[in-house]
Amino acid sequence: MGKKLIILSFILSLILSITIVSLTLLNSKKSNIKATIIAAESISNVVIHNLNTFMVNDNMHNSKAFINSLSNIKGINNLWLVRSELLNDKYVNSQRHPKDDIDKKVLSSGLAQYEIKEDLTKTTMRISIPYNANIENGVNCFSCHNVAQGDTLGAVSLDLDIESSIEGELELVYLIPLLIFISIFTIIYLSSRNIKSYENLFDSLKNSINEASTGNFDLIVKPKILNSEMKDTIDKYNNLMVILKDAFVDIEKRMQRFIGNKSTMSSNNPLEESKDIILNLSNLYQFKKEIELDNTKEEIYDRLAQVFENQFGIESFTFLEINMNKHKMNVVKEVGNTFYCKEYIKENPELCRSARTNNDVVSIDYHNSCPYFKEKDKYHYCTNIDISKEVNLIINFVCKTPSKLENLKDKISFVKSYINEAAPSIEVKLLMDALQESAFTDGLTGLYNRKFLEEHAKKLIPHAKREEFNIGVLLLDMDHFKAVNDEYGHDIGDKVLKELARIMTECIRESDIIIRYGGEEFIILLVGVSNVENAMNIANKIGKRVRENEIDVYAGNKLKKTISIGLSMFPDDATSLDSAIKNADIALYEAKNSGRDKVVKFNEEQISSVDLF
Ligand code: GH3
Ligand code: MG
Ligand code: MG
Repeated sequence: MGKKLIILSFILSLILSITIVSLTLLNSKKSNIKATIIAAESISNVVIHNLNTFMVNDNMHNSKAFINSLSNIKGINNLWLVRSELLNDKYVNSQRHPKDDIDKKVLSSGLAQYEIKEDLTKTTMRISIPYNANIENGVNCFSCHNVAQGDTLGAVSLDLDIESSIEGELELVYLIPLLIFISIFTIIYLSSRNIKSYENLFDSLKNSINEASTGNFDLIVKPKILNSEMKDTIDKYNNLMVILKDAFVDIEKRMQRFIGNKSTMSSNNPLEESKDIILNLSNLYQFKKEIELDNTKEEIYDRLAQVFENQFGIESFTFLEINMNKHKMNVVKEVGNTFYCKEYIKENPELCRSARTNNDVVSIDYHNSCPYFKEKDKYHYCTNIDISKEVNLIINFVCKTPSKLENLKDKISFVKSYINEAAPSIEVKLLMDALQESAFTDGLTGLYNRKFLEEHAKKLIPHAKREEFNIGVLLLDMDHFKAVNDEYGHDIGDKVLKELARIMTECIRESDIIIRYGGEEFIILLVGVSNVENAMNIANKIGKRVRENEIDVYAGNKLKKTISIGLSMFPDDATSLDSAIKNADIALYEAKNSGRDKVVKFNEEQISSVDLF
């Protein structure tokens, strides 16, 4: 900075000096020219006056010596006289013709003419002053010459030195710059102490601001030389840095509670970090408010998925609900991919490494840490959140490249903060779903109850009519079930019912529906069964399985039971589900009456044979 100031001062001095010297010289030259012209006019006047005097006194022979004596005066390089043609004609023996163009111009114009001649060593003025015919100082030109008033009779020509007058000015060329340089450097020298301290302050501030912009507020400005004004400013600056540092440390500490580990932050600059954290918290707060208004668990998962995709740029992930107690895995939502775990893990959810260890499971360099992740050329990050006592939510993030995985790792604290916010809401929805399910299921067998049938029928029948598919309606009743209760007690009776529920579940498709209709009466809706033969086959299969099934009762004793089944088809046998069930009941009645342990298909004739009372 000091060096720059010196260079600047030097340039300023130089410009100032050149300007002042040039102006002075220019001015001096102008006034010198003016003075030389005046001097030339004076000399000319003296010459003409003396010549006139010589002429009047008739001693013209002295004129030559006079002219010569004038020529010897310092500064007059040459002096000569010229006559106009008017006079030359008269003085034939001593004609004085013009020597140069200036002489000619003066004689023709009657006006003084001059020319400046400059070379490296000196400056001269070539000047001619005219002598015009008039009556002056007792001299009457017209008495001797036949000329008119104002006619130019001749001229006094001079070659004058004007160099001598400039020489004095040339001293200024050295003196002015010298004085300017001396003044400026004296000022710089005297103020250098002050400049130095400002320079130190500037450097310290520059360092401190550079450090602060990268997040280090520790470097406090401490310049060596201070005046009171600077000291005051520095104290204020240092205080500001301390306040900023404390504020950022405090913000960071408080925010870590919400967003987790610092090492996951992308930047080490507390300013950037705080900005990131506040932005994320604001988004998180918004997210929390949104999910509170969500109606179903699916809406919450959709919202989480949107955050992952739009806010964190994650392209592929799957939400998995795992219930370890029930050994069930539910693939809730897949985004951007198909299921990336090996398929059999769905039936064996306890194999899921993340759910089992309750830890994050991440692809490590060159291989996948989970043996059940089937994509060898992709990278995964699985995280586990306990949604409720029974249910774990596993989110399987899948990245195409290691750099994308690293990026995800950096952001995982923020990602998890969203999952953690969503978890209680998901739990509430799970509980509500469970509650709703319990209202629709039978506690003993886990099958749907009659209430569910009523609710479901409202949707199922219009659907079946619209899509034109069949529903096979089976009404099943345990034969002589009362006797089981009577002989073995209710517990064994309950066990027999559970066994029946198991067999029925095993014999039907997932899309079929089993309902506990009464005590030991069940309805099976074979949804979309192709024809009555298929429905009969399923019914017969269930009958056979029940017949062959041995139930442990006590002390190694086995019990075998049978069931009777009535079958009717919707829409072939009835236009509503109610009448289809009634028809199946009629067929069941027929089965009971005709010896039990059989399947009877409804037909219209059975109606007349039903003995209602
Ligand atoms: P049928 O061959 O004519 O059907 O004879 P059944 O004995 O099976 O017929 P019934 O309707 O007379 O008997 C039904 C019995 O089922 C009466 C009731 O005590 C018993 N039951 C109903 N619900 C339950 C239950 O939840 N648990 C047990 N253990 N028994 C039940
Ligand atoms: Mg019965
Ligand atoms: Mg019964």
